[in-house]
Amino acid sequence: MRSITLLGATGSIGASTLDLIRRAQGEWKVVALTANCQAVELAKLAREFNAEIAVVGDESCLPELREALAGSGIEAAGGATALVEAARREADLTVAAIVGCAGLAPTMAAIERGGLVALANKEALVAAGDVMTAAVARYGATILPTDSEHNAIFQCLAGNAISDVRSITLTASGGPFRGWTAAQLEAATPAQAVQHPNWSMGAKISVDSATMFNKGLELIEAAHLFPVGLDALRIVVHPQSVIHSMVEYRDGSTLAQLGPSDMRVPIASCLAWPRRMETPMPPLDLAAIGELSFQAPDEELFPATKLAREAAEAGGAAPAVLSAANEVAVAAFLAGQTKFTDIAALVARTLARPLPPAPSSLEDVLEVDRETRTRVREQLEHA
Ligand code: NDP
Repeated sequence: MRSITLLGATGSIGASTLDLIRRAQGEWKVVALTANCQAVELAKLAREFNAEIAVVGDESCLPELREALAGSGIEAAGGATALVEAARREADLTVAAIVGCAGLAPTMAAIERGGLVALANKEALVAAGDVMTAAVARYGATILPTDSEHNAIFQCLAGNAISDVRSITLTASGGPFRGWTAAQLEAATPAQAVQHPNWSMGAKISVDSATMFNKGLELIEAAHLFPVGLDALRIVVHPQSVIHSMVEYRDGSTLAQLGPSDMRVPIASCLAWPRRMETPMPPLDLAAIGELSFQAPDEELFPATKLAREAAEAGGAAPAVLSAANEVAVAAFLAGQTKFTDIAALVARTLARPLPPAPSSLEDVLEVDRETRTRVREQLEHA
């Protein structure tokens, strides 16, 4: 039996992970499950999986969690420090699936334990970049990329030398607004933005897919996970989302990973790594799919990937600023406070201002994140 901690248990990645663990009964011991404030749902999961501890990030939700766990013998805790302490508990695998920079400190705690970390929380790696990769090396941790594209690349790299890679291509579905005009994008609503054509995901990443910031964040994530140089990282729009990414080698061979648009596939690859496990996926039926198509991204209408590449090239604090500005802008859009097209505009304006010094510690990254959020909120208030 292996032990697991799931940061972000009540989310979309959390649900997919727990579905696989439920099917593999008796193979996993659950250490910690966390949420932000969905205390009743978290308590239900903690009881079902007999977790040692359940933690809410928002301390004001702790009384509700305590009440929902009464009599279960499961520990309850709340607040940012409690999240970090839960991530420090011994576990064979930590699944990092909190959304946004809120997941950074607990993910770093799991890394500093020298553990095996299945990383879905892309914003954490984008913001912390070199700080996180240095900690991975220093503490002997292992990151298993869980994002479907990075998991695909990880699988295509198995058994090969990174020095033999000519290029890596991230595929992008293009999101729900692929083919829309500038005027249509101007009027796009939150309800339309969260309707992803291929994937069922949390609200923030769904909006990121619509703006293409998701692919921008993934480009920066890939630059840290697979050190082939930014010039060797490409993006292609592939509306069917069947090929999840590709690696081209110097001999002209390109390896691709194919599969259904269901996060249980990359999550299963992390849970079972370096082996394989059963999932409830039907066999891939390429004849039924019929056609796989590809097109270049439109960076005029969807400038997010260009902004992300520029931030990656600039390095230092720029990726953390980009990610924090995007988080605030997406939240404002979802709350009906700003237009869809303002998201990229706000991020671009924030990046154009003088940037803070390059962060060299977790505290520095969190400070850049806090400062950027304040600045973007001020811009939103004065808009
Ligand atoms: P969801 O919004 O569905 O879930 C987010 C989880 O994080 C919930 O458990 C939520 O708790 C918790 N959470 C939110 N804010 C905080 C906070 N401030 N402190 C502590 N916990 C918090 O997100 P997804 O599952 O869609 O995405 C999770 C991560 O995985 C993201 O980084 C995303 O980019 C990445 N990812 C997701 C994919 C997907 O298919 N969904 C695919 C690839 C990557 P609560 O429920 O209480 O709010």
